Amino acid sequence: MATFFDSSEYLGRLERAAELAHSLGIEAVLVTPGPDLRYLTGYHAHALERLTCLVIPAEGDVTLVVPELEVGTANASPVADLPISIATWQETDDPYALTASLLARPGEGTRIAVEDRMWAVKALELRKAMPGAEQVGAGVVLGELRMRKSQAEIEQLQRAGAAIDRVHAAVPGWLRAGRTENEVAQDIADAILNEHETADFVIVASGPNGASPHHMASDRVIQPGDAVVVDIGGTTAAGYCSDSTRTYSMGQPSARFARDYEVLQRAQALACRAVAPGMSCEEIDSVARNALADAGLVDYFIHRTGHGIGLETHEEPYIVQGNDRRLEPGMAFSVEPGFYRAGDAGARIEDIVVCGDDGAIMCNSRPHELLVVG
Ligand code: ZN
Ligand code: ZN
Ligand code: ZN
Repeated sequence: MATFFDSSEYLGRLERAAELAHSLGIEAVLVTPGPDLRYLTGYHAHALERLTCLVIPAEGDVTLVVPELEVGTANASPVADLPISIATWQETDDPYALTASLLARPGEGTRIAVEDRMWAVKALELRKAMPGAEQVGAGVVLGELRMRKSQAEIEQLQRAGAAIDRVHAAVPGWLRAGRTENEVAQDIADAILNEHETADFVIVASGPNGASPHHMASDRVIQPGDAVVVDIGGTTAAGYCSDSTRTYSMGQPSARFARDYEVLQRAQALACRAVAPGMSCEEIDSVARNALADAGLVDYFIHRTGHGIGLETHEEPYIVQGNDRRLEPGMAFSVEPGFYRAGDAGARIEDIVVCGDDGAIMCNSRPHELLVVG
């Protein structure tokens, strides 16, 4: 099995998780399969009905509770090289009681953090096994860690960005008036798979469909003169996500669309340029929003400017009004303003950026101009 990070990287994450839990008065962090488990241990396990659960006490040894039949899989992952004890359970054992038995104080007056997207049925069973303990979402610990990328993670995001850039570079060869969005989307999905482990989403939104930000693809036949929003992403073998949007024009665009697009391009560039440590998430959003407002387009910009990205396409930090969190080096997120004229057309430009010591580190490098094809 390919490993993408040194054991020291995982060790540091486990230690920081325990330290942060300790400082928040959390007795232990319980993590079932998903991106949080992969982040902490490199174990890319599938969420199944049998309980697999990483137990990170605020103080003490880390244990992975694993069904007997999955011990081999767990040991084939980076877990084998980490100071993590394995606690196995047989088909007729109670894995929830086993998990509770690993905690020094599983009961009254303690706070237990459960992974944000643990299956509800598992969180409820854990609650039953630890009567009196208060459950909190583990995002207060893991979200804080995951939003600050290490150098090794930044490199993985740059690789994912380069991979999706290569797909965008080929898009003009597939976009033709007379083809359906679905046909173009299929070609793009195949190309994403050549560059990633999974193709996560393919948006090919032509003409009026472009005015719906999360339109995927349909049987609509692409028409001459359409603007086409192409927003695509996948996950690399290392688990890192790509997400990039470019807008294409089937032949020459209308004068109004061309003018609006120039405003959008300026808004996106200004927001990227504003990225720096100490700027707040909502200030970055305001930079894009104000540039669109100056040209009378802000009412057509109907979503936040961006979202964090890493092991998931959407994670913290969200670049949105009301989020006064200050950017720190290593925070990675999209900058993706757009405008959407219902019934007519839409446009969006999206790059992934990482906040560096003195500004944005760009993960995408395709041209931002409206790309005229056909
Ligand atoms: Zn989205
Ligand atoms: Zn996107
Ligand atoms: Zn995005």
